[in-house]
Amino acid sequence: MKHLLRFLGRGSAFRTDNNCAFFALDGNLVLLDCPLSAFHKLRHIGADKLAGGKASCITVLVTHTHSDHTSGIGMLIHYSYFVLHIPVVVIAPSDEVAQDIRLLTDRLDGCSSDGYEIKTFEKGLYSWLTAAVPTCHSQQLDGRCFGWILDIEGKRVVYTGDTNTLEPFMPYICKGCLLYTEVSAFDSPVHLYIEKFAPQFKNIVQEGVEVYFMHLDDDEALEQAAQQIGAQLAPLYIRNK
Ligand SMILES: [Zn+2]
Ligand SMILES: [Zn+2]
Repeated sequence: MKHLLRFLGRGSAFRTDNNCAFFALDGNLVLLDCPLSAFHKLRHIGADKLAGGKASCITVLVTHTHSDHTSGIGMLIHYSYFVLHIPVVVIAPSDEVAQDIRLLTDRLDGCSSDGYEIKTFEKGLYSWLTAAVPTCHSQQLDGRCFGWILDIEGKRVVYTGDTNTLEPFMPYICKGCLLYTEVSAFDSPVHLYIEKFAPQFKNIVQEGVEVYFMHLDDDEALEQAAQQIGAQLAPLYIRNK
């Protein structure tokens, strides 16, 4: 089965391979967030291989600035500039997040502005990028956590990022679309606790939506839960041994 999004990691913050999805369009390799573990995977596998041909650009869509989502951005920019010789474009979901990323890349990481640029999402930026959806996740990052709505190969993709609610995404979820949603086996105020959200996921599956679980804290428990409601775990590009 061909997947629209594949994952360089699908683990939550304290797992070995943090969550990172990717797809490629015409040589543009697009990553959803860039944890350090995903940067190393990209370096090992090769950007061209991930892009399915010569990669001419790497684009990173940032959901929020927790380090399990942004810790590889500086390394990726340096590596792309000095080794791959291709530009990196970082897309922030809002001006405020763009400023935070700029602090990380320019000020802390010392990335050369020749090698990358940061853009704030706006409609029409890319044909495949439909919307940045503000959501609630961590109190400390209040107002600075987002999911993304994509249009890949004519299919709507809803990508929640880290969230503790599905509400902001519901207007975008429709029959035939793909929902990549974070989910957690442990109850906490910052994530979607599977026991609580299973009935809602089940309804969404029954409406004809393909549902993929990502940002996993317990693969086994969440795989069982996925099976029970007709969802699947996010597809890894390479399975861990
Ligand atoms: Zn996270
Ligand atoms: Zn987070």
